[in-house]
Amino acid sequence: MSAFALKGGVLHAEDVALPALAEEFGTPCYVYSRAAITAAYSAFERAFAPRPHLICYAVKANSNLAVLNVLARLGAGFDIVSGGELLRVLAAGGDPGRTIFSGVGKTAAEIRLALGHGIKCFNVESGAELDRIDRIAGELGKRAAISFRVNPDVDAKTHRYISTGLKENKFGVAYAEAIPLYRRAAALPNIKVTGIDFHLGSKMMDPAPAVEAAGKIFALLEALATEGIALSHFDVGGGLGVPYEPGEGEADLAGYARGLLQLLEGRSETLVFEPGRYLVGNAGLLLTRVEYLKPGAVKNFAVVDAAMNDLIRPALYEAYHDMLPVTPRDGAPSTWQIVGPVCESADFLGHDRALTLAEGDLLAVMSAGAYGFVMSSNYNTRGRACEVMIDGARAHLIRERESTPLLFCHESILPR
Ligand SMILES: *Cc1c(COP(=O)(O)O)cnc(C)c1O
Repeated sequence: MSAFALKGGVLHAEDVALPALAEEFGTPCYVYSRAAITAAYSAFERAFAPRPHLICYAVKANSNLAVLNVLARLGAGFDIVSGGELLRVLAAGGDPGRTIFSGVGKTAAEIRLALGHGIKCFNVESGAELDRIDRIAGELGKRAAISFRVNPDVDAKTHRYISTGLKENKFGVAYAEAIPLYRRAAALPNIKVTGIDFHLGSKMMDPAPAVEAAGKIFALLEALATEGIALSHFDVGGGLGVPYEPGEGEADLAGYARGLLQLLEGRSETLVFEPGRYLVGNAGLLLTRVEYLKPGAVKNFAVVDAAMNDLIRPALYEAYHDMLPVTPRDGAPSTWQIVGPVCESADFLGHDRALTLAEGDLLAVMSAGAYGFVMSSNYNTRGRACEVMIDGARAHLIRERESTPLLFCHESILPR
């Protein structure tokens, strides 16, 4: 059952009616369901229960401290891509010993910070990064655990902006260079080689490409073992999708599990995952209010109070988000362009939506839990939306709406 459903003709988040939330916290407002996050995590957990595994939530998908804390309490580890994300994990009560550090551009300061907190592993993306980590670990008198992110050269068959596992992408080390790099790493004094990883891309509904890539990368793990380079974990990245469109099926978690469990049958390596979207994507919505209706000769516009600065996925990836009226009205629907107040033609949340709308109505922009708030900006000097987490019948404000003076408090004018 979805955490977001109509009850008595009004859309609810768990047991809380959305109009009450709009009343209390204003709009636009991100609304997350603790139960939905827990359900997604538990499904993942159950699918891989037969073997040693660790779910490292990809923090970048939604890094609110309350979201991280809910996942930490469920036993999740974390996948971070910056020093800032590490500090968030720590602030949220996450375990640095279950945290892995991904990304192509780790700075010396970030590496120092991560070594200081004893993270589980660096997912290394180049020979130059390996040397930097070795040098810094030496300075700190530590040994850094590393994994190479190897590019499997498999097409995730997803949007070109979110596909990362092809030769032409900036991510990972080339497949052919992996073994020589491992040999070099194994000989470095301040490096401990512990794993191997890959990440194909995002929004995969069909796990076949990920399972195919896992097979290719696992072959490297086996080849390394014959040379005496034994790895203790096998990290298959993230990327499993969630349905965005009405009627779209769920990602094939069972098929994903079947493929990976079969590949690793009889092996003792810990299977590590880096899911982001799968755990939070459908656990959140963006609540917005219709400011104006602008019917036109060619198109009808519904101007809402959320904009591309709040949710950039439609403008950036032409992403589809379902749009539900919070209190559905009777009457024949019209076709609406759902747009925000920002001065850009790309500022839309949805095209050609059949809805019966009136000024002042609330709309729920669905599937906004991942890559929603975290990608929001202050463009047009708009304070970022507040975030609320629902837990049963309770609503917790987990991030205040940004006030306008805050938006320019770090700026200054020139002296006279
Ligand atoms: C973004 C990212 C993830 C998470 O991707 P999802 O599609 O949200 O699961 C995992 N690992 C790495 C290295 C990433 O860059």
